[in-house]
Amino acid sequence: MGGGDVSENSHRCAAIKNNGARCERVISASSRFCFAHDPLTQERRQASLEKANKAREVRQRNRVDEIVLLRERVMEFVEDVIKKRMNPGTASAVNQFLVTWLRLVDAENSQLELDKYTEKLLAVERHLDDRKRSTS
Ligand SMILES: [Zn+2]
Repeated sequence: MGGGDVSENSHRCAAIKNNGARCERVISASSRFCFAHDPLTQERRQASLEKANKAREVRQRNRVDEIVLLRERVMEFVEDVIKKRMNPGTASAVNQFLVTWLRLVDAENSQLELDKYTEKLLAVERHLDDRKRSTS
């Protein structure tokens, strides 16, 4: 057992690799696994991923609420113009703002979508990295 640079203050990682062999990485005596095999690392990664997902869900839910509210507001504006409670000039200005708002929402959605796929890509890359490290 042991050998090489394994001293009293270090030992080998306890993980068994996918190919059935023991991980060869030498680690400090106080830890049981190397960074790649530490369940805590995995947990932390999972936790931060879940946190990011939750934040996105909340943002999307707020956005949906906002859109529903605004849709009702737009119908009120239409009603106001038809019933001549709002002059067409004001309605036209309001409409311009709404168009701008919609463009901003579109831009934000595109960015959110991009962030989502970037995160997924990074997770896949990390996973492949771990596999490469744990089988080499
Ligand atoms: Zn290991």
